[in-house]
Amino acid sequence: MKANIAFIGLGNMGAPMVANLLQAGHRVQVFDLQAEAMARVSKLGAVPAGSALAAVEQAEVVITMLQTGAQVEAVYMSGQQSLFAAMSVNTLVIDCSTIEASTAKTMADKAVEHGLDFLDAPVSGGVAGAQAGTLTFIVGGSAAQFARAQPVLSLMGSKVLHAGGHGAGQMAKACNNMLLAVQMAGTCEALNMGINNGLDPRVLSEIMQQSSGDNWVLQHYNPVPGVMDKVPAAQSYSGGFKVRLMCKDLDLAMDLGRETRSPVPMGAAAKALFDLHQVAGAEELDFSSLLTLFQKKGYQ
Ligand code: NAD
Repeated sequence: MKANIAFIGLGNMGAPMVANLLQAGHRVQVFDLQAEAMARVSKLGAVPAGSALAAVEQAEVVITMLQTGAQVEAVYMSGQQSLFAAMSVNTLVIDCSTIEASTAKTMADKAVEHGLDFLDAPVSGGVAGAQAGTLTFIVGGSAAQFARAQPVLSLMGSKVLHAGGHGAGQMAKACNNMLLAVQMAGTCEALNMGINNGLDPRVLSEIMQQSSGDNWVLQHYNPVPGVMDKVPAAQSYSGGFKVRLMCKDLDLAMDLGRETRSPVPMGAAAKALFDLHQVAGAEELDFSSLLTLFQKKGYQ
C-alpha cells in the first residue's frame, strides 16, 4: 500500500533515503531549512512543504534525519504548538538522527500523550548505504512499534534490528560509533606508518584485509586517497560523515560511559584525536580525513 510519508532533514543521509522511498512509489512530503537540499529531492519527485508543520499534516508516517538532539527537539517541540499535536492519532513517527538516548525517551513520552508511536531508529552504513538502500536501522521502541516500523524501514535498509525499549537504539548506536571511531583512528595510524616506511597503501590495505587487522574501515571506507573508488577519500573527503558529527557521537558515547561508570579509554583517545582534527578546521570534512592529522604534510 502506498503511504503518505513526511521526511524532515534532507542532508547527506536524508536525501538518498527519500530517493528510496520515492522509488518504492510512496508520496513523500519533505522539509529542510536549506533551499538547496529541498531542490535536490524535489527534482526526484518529492513534494516540497513550506514548513515541518505543513509536511506532517497529511502524513501517516513521519521520519526525521537531523544532526543533533537539539535539532530534533526544535523540530518536534518548539513553536506555539508541538509538531506532535499537528499529527493524526496513530501516526508512526521515526527519528533516524543519532542523538542522546534521554532526548529520544522524552520525545517518545511526549508522542504517547498525543496517541502517536515514536521510535528511535539511528542508522549505520554511511551515505553509500543510504544510497544503495542497505542501511542498518538500530531501533528502540516496543515490540509492536518495531513491527509497525519494519516495512517502511526495510525500504531504506537491508537490516532492521530491535535493540530494546525507547532510547535503546541510540545507546547501541553510540556503542557502535565509538567502536567505529577507534577503528578509523587505528586504521589511519597503521596506514600512515606503512606509507612512511615506504609501503604502497593499496598493497598494505589488501594485506591487512586478509590478516587479523581486517575491519569495516578497511573493507568499505579506506581513508587513503586512491585506494578505493566512491569513498569520501576519493572526493577530497567531501560528502560523507562529517568530523563534526563524529565528535558529537563521541560526546554521546562519553556521556553514556560516565553515567554508568564504564571505562572508555579507547573511545576517549579517539575523541581527543577527532576533537583536535575538528578545531584544526576539518569539521565539515568526512571523518576519514583524520588520516591527514597523522601525515607529515597536510592533505594535498
Ligand atoms: P547533514 O548535516 O548532511 O544533514 C542534516 C540536515 O538537517 C541538513 O540538511 C539541515 O539543513 C537539516 N536540518 C537541521 N535542522 C533542521 C530543522 N530544524 N528543520 C529542517 N531541517 C533541518 O547530516 P547527515 O550526514 O545527513 O546526518 C544526519 C544524522 O545521521 C546525524 O545525526 C548523523 O550523526 C547520522 N548519521 C550520519 C551518517 C553519515 O555517514 N553521514 C551515518 C550514520 C548516521
